[in-house]
Amino acid sequence: MPYDHQNVFARILRGELPCRKVYEDKFVLAFHDINPKAPTHVVVIPKGHYMSMDDFAAHGKEEELFHFLRAVNKIAVACGTAETGYRLIANNGIHGGQEVPHAHMHVLGGKPLGQMIQ
Ligand code: AMP
Repeated sequence: MPYDHQNVFARILRGELPCRKVYEDKFVLAFHDINPKAPTHVVVIPKGHYMSMDDFAAHGKEEELFHFLRAVNKIAVACGTAETGYRLIANNGIHGGQEVPHAHMHVLGGKPLGQMIQ
């Protein structure tokens, strides 16, 4: 299955749709989730065209992978969740419940999040 250039995160990356930006560098964009599941809910995406975190982990370049994970930490610190704790979620594919077919990681926090899966 090829990468869908019309997916919502691709459109955000091209500036066709707005986002509430939290962080950006050469490789990464992060913004508030439009339907937050916690007081802090940030979506972190690589700028490369990867369909899922699985695809990104398998095919991302070393510098893209490095900057992505480092950006997640910077975002967690900037949002104030690094001290109190937070959860990273990467939904992959059908069983993972992935809705948007561009690689992304959710950063959730701001309150105790309870069980991992309810
Ligand atoms: P996933 O199920 O992991 O693919 O999650 C996709 C996430 O993208 C959901 O949490 C949506 O609320 C979020 N989302 C969809 N459209 C937008 C948008 N335009 N801006 C910000 N977040 C969005």
